[in-house]
Amino acid sequence: MKLVLLDRDGVINEDRKDSVKSQDEFILLPGVLPAIKLLNKASIPVAIVTNQAVVGRGELSLEGLENIHECFTEALKKEGAFIDKIYVCTSTDSQNYYRKPNPGLLAQALNDFAIKPKDAVFIGDALRDLEAATAIQCSRVLVRTGKGSQTLKEGLPDAVLPVRIFNDLYEAVHCLLGEEMC
Ligand SMILES: [Mg+2]
Repeated sequence: MKLVLLDRDGVINEDRKDSVKSQDEFILLPGVLPAIKLLNKASIPVAIVTNQAVVGRGELSLEGLENIHECFTEALKKEGAFIDKIYVCTSTDSQNYYRKPNPGLLAQALNDFAIKPKDAVFIGDALRDLEAATAIQCSRVLVRTGKGSQTLKEGLPDAVLPVRIFNDLYEAVHCLLGEEMC
């Protein structure tokens, strides 16, 4: 494992049906900061890959989105942790190559970090995360936070298997790193 790609809403922060539109609505899930710190300590780059159609719909400005991410970056910094890069697709167009389930942003991340798909793991809470990861053939992890439990309840299509399933990001990272040590 040489690169960890994370979905944002439902993996890092609480998912909201009406999208996160302000810093107040960006509520970190338990264990997220320590999980990212574990990856930093293991010298594994971490990038976020997120759809933010809320910007494309005009409900949040790009500046507003950047402020939310700066606030998150500050929270990480206080814990001595960091995210290497944040990739955002603001398009509302489901055909957009960069909007998950399409693989554009993931492909861009792999290219930027010069990592082969087999060496990258994508951790998400929605089927479209698994579909995007499948499209570029990187490993797939589903967490039960956010939409995760509902995603599981609806059943995972054969096309996206195998998928490893964990309760939350901390458990996922802990186990993935454990595997590395075996
Ligand atoms: Mg999500």
